[in-house]
Amino acid sequence: MTLLVRGGCKCGLVRYKGEKIDAPMFRCHCRDCQQLTGTGHSEMVPLDLNSFVIGDNCSEYEMVGGSGQPTYSGFCPNCGSPLTRRSARMSDRIYVHAASMDHPETYLPAKSIYVDAAQPWDRSVIDQSAVHPA
Ligand SMILES: [Zn+2]
Ligand SMILES: [Zn+2]
Repeated sequence: MTLLVRGGCKCGLVRYKGEKIDAPMFRCHCRDCQQLTGTGHSEMVPLDLNSFVIGDNCSEYEMVGGSGQPTYSGFCPNCGSPLTRRSARMSDRIYVHAASMDHPETYLPAKSIYVDAAQPWDRSVIDQSAVHPA
């Protein structure tokens, strides 16, 4: 069963929709996510890029990712809300920021990534051993 996800930015200028793919939702503590969100981490939901539709008024900022390949941050040019992340390396999917979804309560992160980059004040690192007890 495909889950259709809808969402958008704070001011309502940019809206999107797309189908959730069967891949984990996760919390990313990398330095890029810290700077792009202004917090300790991002909360990412993977959607199928082929099904994904977003208003063409969405702005995209290009960066070089940890893999050395380009990654892109999509955001509203009016209110600045971060909306999407995608990379050339994972070309089948696009990630939306969990709180931009119309139903953010459906977010359920399975893991933390780039834990080594987490700030000492970010207490939200998901303990993998607690999620998957040995
Ligand atoms: Zn906006
Ligand atoms: Zn990140």
